[in-house]
Amino acid sequence: MSMMLWTLAACSDAAQGDKPWIVDRFDDVKVIRYEVPGFETLPREQKELIYYLAQAAKCGRDILFDQNCPANLAVRRMLETVYENYAGDRTTPEWRALEKYLKKVWFANGIHHHYSNDKFIPEFTEEYLLTVIETIPEEKFGAELNALRGEVCVAIFDPAAYPTRLNQRAGDDLLLTSSSNYYKGVSQAEAERYYAAQAAADAGNPEPVSYGLNSQLAKDPKTGRLYERVWKVGGMYSPAIERIVYWLEKAQAVAAEPQKTTIASLIEYYRTGDLKKFDEYNIRWVKDTLSNVDFVNGFIEDYGDPLGRKASWEANVNFMDSAACRRTEIISENAQWFEDHSPVAPEYKKKKVKGVSAKVITVALLGGDCYPATPIGINLPNADWIRKEYGSKSVTIDNITYAYDMAAHGNGFNEEFVLRAEDRDRMDRYGKLADDLHTDLHECLGHGSGQLAPGVAGGELKSYGSTLEETRADLFGLYYLGDPKLVELGLVPSFDVARAGYAKYILNGMMTQLARIEPGKNVEEAHMRNRKLICEWCYERGKADGVIEWVERDGKRYVAVNDFEKLRALFGEMLREIQRIKSEGDYEAGRALVEKYAVSVDPELHAEVRERYAALGIEPYGGFLNPEYEPVERDGEIVDVKIHYPTDYAAQMMDYSKNYSYLPLKN
Ligand code: ZN
Repeated sequence: MSMMLWTLAACSDAAQGDKPWIVDRFDDVKVIRYEVPGFETLPREQKELIYYLAQAAKCGRDILFDQNCPANLAVRRMLETVYENYAGDRTTPEWRALEKYLKKVWFANGIHHHYSNDKFIPEFTEEYLLTVIETIPEEKFGAELNALRGEVCVAIFDPAAYPTRLNQRAGDDLLLTSSSNYYKGVSQAEAERYYAAQAAADAGNPEPVSYGLNSQLAKDPKTGRLYERVWKVGGMYSPAIERIVYWLEKAQAVAAEPQKTTIASLIEYYRTGDLKKFDEYNIRWVKDTLSNVDFVNGFIEDYGDPLGRKASWEANVNFMDSAACRRTEIISENAQWFEDHSPVAPEYKKKKVKGVSAKVITVALLGGDCYPATPIGINLPNADWIRKEYGSKSVTIDNITYAYDMAAHGNGFNEEFVLRAEDRDRMDRYGKLADDLHTDLHECLGHGSGQLAPGVAGGELKSYGSTLEETRADLFGLYYLGDPKLVELGLVPSFDVARAGYAKYILNGMMTQLARIEPGKNVEEAHMRNRKLICEWCYERGKADGVIEWVERDGKRYVAVNDFEKLRALFGEMLREIQRIKSEGDYEAGRALVEKYAVSVDPELHAEVRERYAALGIEPYGGFLNPEYEPVERDGEIVDVKIHYPTDYAAQMMDYSKNYSYLPLKN
């Protein structure tokens, strides 16, 4: 296995316990390592399966880079070639700036910030880059890259080129002003007409496919005709998809039923690009709640497309954390009770909540849009009709939240931002439990709850859809976090867990999440918008009663919750309204709420939060370094798989770029 050797130099097999959790920090980012407890004691076949799935999870990384911006692969290759071959002084400020920029590109899977979507501003000059390039023999770059040198410089240094990955400013042509690669020369109106025609042709079909999910929509410059370049074997991104399929076939060979058939069905989809096959795969996948090892590999989430249609490539390989699963089992077993007792209007409740499966998992590998920054919960599939008919699979990722928690310990955050000692004490005691339960409720019940009114297809909320959907799921979680039922079920000792969770949520939504936003910018990302929407709405509604209060002390502002019971009632009221908006597809009401509460930022508060946050030296974003898996072979058979924990972020990125890079620089 020669391809493993390159990274092993940076690996250590020593016990991890005393090593720092944060392995690299740059700009606004920290890179954290995570452990995979329980891997060593898995049966051999499951280790082998994880190894193959992990390989498949690494093979689509280039796809995501190209989806995020058509210049990304060339920029990355150029900087990596420089990084690997430059023999000059690596201690100068300009070199360090170049290295930092490359680390940011790796982290964001491209030249735009992974959260704000803004293009990175290099802190080194074009002249410096060109001088460095001149010192390196031309053949190191290769003909393909040399031909793109000018384009790379424009992409990095010209602020007018590819200014934002995802523009959501109402009134703009969201496609022509976004730098992602999901549409090529196609205006928003043209794309909307194109897909409206597909939907119209399929009207009344209770099982509509997710049109446009796995393709680039392009326009023939001569004829003006629109056509889809499908991401499949033989289509766009074929070289990477072929490698994914290669490893999935190996996984299929060692998997047991029903997983074997599920993997076969995913392979068929990758081969044909047929979205009907993707739905078949999803149905098989969602029904399989028993396989210990599980995975996601494909075009899944549509947050990167301003029209919410095209999906970015992502991967995640995991196995069940059975000890921690008891918590979510209890929630899942009571799903119908929660649905029946929710404050939502009766006609918009699900009569029968189906197939809510709840698991806590241990992640073994992150890939694509889940790497290095990753969600801490998964709720799939996304197609509304499959969720309604077959339910959804929800998991929370315990080893990742654990690593976050360890990395954050003792960083001074609570002392700086939490006014009252009793809130700090409750957060110390119950903060992690409150977070875990909120995530469970959000993922296991929130997204799966409620139903649409007859004739409403989903998708009516357009660019506000993701924010409102996350709002709905968060409110479901918040409302039930404070329900006496949780005490009755033995999930929490008292309402104090909700007090801890609420105080933390309000603080984050109204204040501290602003630390992640650049000065002068608005709130853009769906989850951040949803948190701000909830907090500001509740603040305004509860103002007369002083439910949430701004307090000024020693020139610093604090936000405190005075009445947790009333706050919970407000969460319930808001949940009812947000569910109505989704159920009725009330675009106008949804738009009005988001635009009023979730978008704009008070510049003074923003500046204060950023200053106080910066003084703590905490990076607002975190991402993760993957472990490495090394098969042990005897007589051509895999007899074991060893796990290693590297600690060098740049080395892992270079390894992935060298050994898992299959696409041409322009696609
Ligand atoms: Zn969610």
